[in-house]
Order: sequence, then structure tokens, then C-alpha cells
Amino acid sequence: MMGRQTGGQDQLFYAFNLEDHIPSNHLLRGINRFLDLSDLRRHLSEFYSHTGRPSIDPELMVRMLVIGYCFGIRSERRLCEEVHLNLAYRWFCQLGLEDKVPDHSTFSKNRHGRFRQSKTFRHVFETVLRRCMSEGLVGGEGFAVDASIIKADANRARSITPGEVRDWSHGDGPSRAVREYLAALEEQKPAEDDTPQAGPPNAASRTISLTDPQSQYTAAPGGPAFFAYSTNYLIDTQHGVILDVQATPAHRTAEVESTKVMVERVEQRFDLTPARLIGDMAYGAAPMLAWMVEDKGIEPHVPVWDKTQRKDDSFSISDFQWNEQADEYRCPQGHALRNERRAFKKARSHVTKADTIIYRASQSDCAACPMKSRCCPSTPMRKIARSIHEAARDVAREIAKTDAYKQSRKDRKKVEMLFAHLKRILKLDRLRLRGLSGAQDEFLLAATAQNLRRMAKRLVPGNATAGLMPA
Ligand code: SF4
Repeated sequence: MMGRQTGGQDQLFYAFNLEDHIPSNHLLRGINRFLDLSDLRRHLSEFYSHTGRPSIDPELMVRMLVIGYCFGIRSERRLCEEVHLNLAYRWFCQLGLEDKVPDHSTFSKNRHGRFRQSKTFRHVFETVLRRCMSEGLVGGEGFAVDASIIKADANRARSITPGEVRDWSHGDGPSRAVREYLAALEEQKPAEDDTPQAGPPNAASRTISLTDPQSQYTAAPGGPAFFAYSTNYLIDTQHGVILDVQATPAHRTAEVESTKVMVERVEQRFDLTPARLIGDMAYGAAPMLAWMVEDKGIEPHVPVWDKTQRKDDSFSISDFQWNEQADEYRCPQGHALRNERRAFKKARSHVTKADTIIYRASQSDCAACPMKSRCCPSTPMRKIARSIHEAARDVAREIAKTDAYKQSRKDRKKVEMLFAHLKRILKLDRLRLRGLSGAQDEFLLAATAQNLRRMAKRLVPGNATAGLMPA
């Protein structure tokens, strides 16, 4: 017999407990267990007035944003609708069935206002990271670093080309992103603490977006160029926990420099210095290796950026023997290459603008040499440019021969997997907020969400494969 639905929606009173309707293995239950925002009100207290109408609870807004970044709901308007309709989201936000959900415009006001001034997202990220540490998910031995490019919310059609002059004050006045750009141009000072790193690159020599001038015009992954920022992750390789995150323009130099900021910040805030730092060849330039080896005492598990190896059968630098005591190279014929062939009255450093020292063979030795055609066919004598950081490069070369280095190559994939997860699952392949500060806010929230998900999946039994997604 065909059944018919009985009952209706006109019942006045319900016995309803939200708690009973959230599955025990729901991802949000695990996340809720590890998200402690009890200190948030104290952190924000000086940014709220003591009089006037009570604001929306900041903890509610942060919880909603955590949902948004955990489940890839990037639109604030849609996030408010989802929290209104989804029971699990209501439960996580500690809202009752009849409680009102904040309006989407409230988010913009707080995100760009007091949350940014008070560095709330950094505070939440570090609170979650401390919990990861107390749960034993951070080993503190091996760190890995990498960067990933994320598209900015800027259309390449609205841009000016190098050399074009722009009056930024025209129209209704500059937007927030433009004001930030102009302020950064004004200051041109190095970033400190949580201020996103790297000011705008030379404005006269690059294509600039009119909507988000701090973004970088890049064609890094191939295909048509676009405006973008980079998210830089420093992770602990034991469980892939993100230790720090830094927004930079999508520019190799800024990405590499951000490593120093992140390593030093983790050292200051958490008293953690890695024994080894793992990265790809972008981090293997001589000054970076020198910083790791000489300044920080960190083992560089990084391929050396080395363009000296010749591809034809002519002699490369590796065919010459270095003698540290004598401060000279010996060529395959046994002759010396020195940086000084005569005594100068005034001592000279011999360091070039490229931070190298040039070692030269004797012209008479080379002229009579049977191997000249393989060594220096087009110059009177052989020259070798030795980096002033060559000792650090040698340390990295030696490490690259070890088994530990082979393991490090595998561990480095953990940071790449986090970027893949960021783009495919959390759907952060394009930013919604503009400016370097907007990028920093988004990257911090996304990294917080990734660490929370990691704890929920690693530490809550039954959550490893679970994780209900929003409808
Ligand atoms: S060409 Fe000069 S530097 Fe090269 S092997 Fe001969 S002597 Fe040595």
C-alpha cells in the first residue's frame, strides 16, 4: 500500500536538542574540540568601546569564518546563509535554532577594521598552533618551506603598463587596496612582525593592477599572465602542521626572503629552531644558504643553485681543486688560480658586486697549456668566480649526498600536498580580499583551518575518513 506522509509543519512546540542531531564523527565536532577561543575577548578588549550598543560576538564571527575556510565557502553572503540553514554549522557557532545569524556586511567591517588592527587572525592561528604542539603534532626537528601562487581579485584588463603615469586620487577616491599600496610606497620600509612582507616592487618597471596594485603580474605557471600573491608556508615535517604563513607578492625574491621572517618569528614566539630546513632550488642561492648555515646553524636540505656546471666537455669549476689554506684553485694541469698575483699597497677585498671573488690563472701558464681549448678557448687565461658564500654551498652539497637528504626530498612533498589541499578542497585558488593585508588575512585563516582539520582527523578516532561536507 502506498504510504502518505502524516503530520505537518503546524506543530507549535518541539522537543529539539541541536546536540543530538550532529553526528559523532562530523568533522566540526573534532574541530570544535581543538578550537579554544576563550582568550579572544581579552585579546580584542581594547578595540571595543566600553559604552554603546553591544556588538556581534567576535567569537561567533571567528567561528563562522573558520567554517567558511574549512569547507570552502568563500562568499560571506553565502556563509551567512549556510550558517542560517545548516544545523551542524549552527551547533559549531553555538547558536540556538532561533538565534539570528550576523549580516554579511558585519564581516567586512570587522575584518578590515578591528580584526586587522588587533591581528586577530594571527592570534587565532597561533592559538591553534600551540594546541597542535601540546597535542604532540610538532616535532621541531625538520621544517620545510615552499610558496604557492594564488590569483588576486584583479582583472588584468584594468592595469597600467610600465612607465605609464597614473593619478590614483581621481574618481571617488582611492580604494582600500590602493591606499595600502600608496602607503607602502610612501614608507618603503622592511616589514616587521605580522606586517605582510615585501613592499611594492619598483612601480615604474612593472605592470600594475588598478584594482589591487600590490599584487604581482606573473606568468609563473605558464599561460596568460595574471595578477597574484604568493602564500608561503613553513611546516613541520613530522605531521605536516603549518608553523607559519606569510603573504608576499608572487615574486621569487620576496618568497625566499619571507623564509627568514617565518623562521625567526617561530623562533621568537615558540622557541623553536629547526635542525634542518628543506626547500626546493629557489631557496638554494648562496646568500640564503649562508644565512641558514652561518647565521642560524641550520642544515640546508636544499639543492644548490649552481649554474657553473658546463654542459659541453670543457672544464667546469668542479674540475678545479680548491685549497682553503692557500686560498687558491689548482687547475687540471696543476697550476694555481689566485685572486691576487701581486701585492697591493692598500689591502683589497676583491669582492665583486655579485658577491664573488675572481681567481685567475697565469696568462703564461695558459698560453703554453695543451688543454687550453677545453679550458678557456676564447680568453687569454682561465678565470673562476667564487661566491663569498661558497663554504655554505659546500655544506649543502655534502648534505645532498646523504640518506637524510633523500628522506628530506620525500618530506618536502608534504608542503606541496598542503597547497593542493588549499586549492582543491578549501577552494582558495583566487583571493576575495584585496591588498597584501587582505591576502595575509585569507592565508592565515586558511592555514588555521588546515591545522584544525589536521588535528581533527589525526586525533579524533573515526574522523580520519569522515568529514561531512555542506550540502
Ligand atoms: S688553460 Fe690554464 S687554467 Fe686551464 S688547464 Fe691549462 S694552465 Fe690550467
